[in-house]
Amino acid sequence: MRPKRPPAISRSLSESLRAGDGEDVLVTGGAGYIGSHTVLQLLLAGSRPSSWTTSRTPPRSLSREWPSLPGIDIRDKEALEKVFASTTFDAVIHFAGLKAVGESVHKPLLYYNNNIIGTINLLEVMSAHGCKKLVFSSSATVYGWPKEVPCTEEFDLSATNPYGRTKLFIEEICRDIHISDPDWSIILLRYFNPVGAHPSGHIGEDPRGFPNNLMPFVQQVAVGRRPALTVFGNDYSTNDGTGVRDYIHVVDLSDGHISALQKLFDGSEIGCEVYNLGTGKGTSVLEMVAAFEKASGKEIPLVIAGRRPGDAEIVYASTAKAEKELHWKAKYGIEEMCRDQWNWASMNPWGYGCPDPAD
Ligand code: UDP
Repeated sequence: MRPKRPPAISRSLSESLRAGDGEDVLVTGGAGYIGSHTVLQLLLAGSRPSSWTTSRTPPRSLSREWPSLPGIDIRDKEALEKVFASTTFDAVIHFAGLKAVGESVHKPLLYYNNNIIGTINLLEVMSAHGCKKLVFSSSATVYGWPKEVPCTEEFDLSATNPYGRTKLFIEEICRDIHISDPDWSIILLRYFNPVGAHPSGHIGEDPRGFPNNLMPFVQQVAVGRRPALTVFGNDYSTNDGTGVRDYIHVVDLSDGHISALQKLFDGSEIGCEVYNLGTGKGTSVLEMVAAFEKASGKEIPLVIAGRRPGDAEIVYASTAKAEKELHWKAKYGIEEMCRDQWNWASMNPWGYGCPDPAD
């Protein structure tokens, strides 16, 4: 067994940084998959960290400074109070939350407690300190099984599991607080399927335990941690019978947050606005596997199984609103997504840690 080595990038819960024009922005969940890439993009965009202690630093090649707060649980309101009492934040990007669909079905209260109570705490503390600009991580899961594609932001919303319901409820909470207090400016970002990793290969996705999502699973098969990928259903009404999703490079997704922040600070009347972050293109499971095989040179053995309960057939985004109003558009295709995911996987076959005996 290899010795445990420290992660290349801080894994504490929250990151504090100074964005673009000197605004102080708190990023909750800044050590997670999308959070860490967003913190990095903000730093690389020339942002300067504010004076929080740095518990760990990323490789110098990635950024000069990696600002981090000691780990904070957003359910701990007292701790949040202390953070907001010591720094005047101009905005918050709120990523922190649990996200495993299957786990949410078995432990709904854990999800409601973490995601909803945690967010309410955060919103209350923000409000008390006059910080009323928010970017929230929502998800395409709020479209449920869409009646048609591409999904536009006006579609009816639904949820098929407790995780999805937390996203849906938090969106509604945000709409309500804006109605009650128009000083709030809130951007809800509905992510489609984030994949890939930073091209440096130093940060990427490292799910704990059994991966629920397609690409982390494919990656673990490629490095020999799993024998085969189970394909959930090949009898959908799609070209090859497998499910279709809108995969988006995590760096593109992170850039979408920077565009959202810019909108929060550009003086426009925002209210509570929602944007899809996707590429607008649908890719099937088999197409994604083929692209990964090409990028990695590894064969991914497949086992065809039945449909996964709750899975939609085809989901992809309409990107028109984000393009028009956020001036943001995804730059990368599945080739770059698979290239960067393989780069991260081959440099870090066990993610940030050593092999887990329970793995
Ligand atoms: N999928 C699969 N095997 C897996 C994980 C996912 O065949 O081990 C399929 C899944 O049925 C869906 C697609 O890959 O069609 C994307 O699934 P994921 O869980 O990554 O995203 P979501 O379904 O939440 O959009």
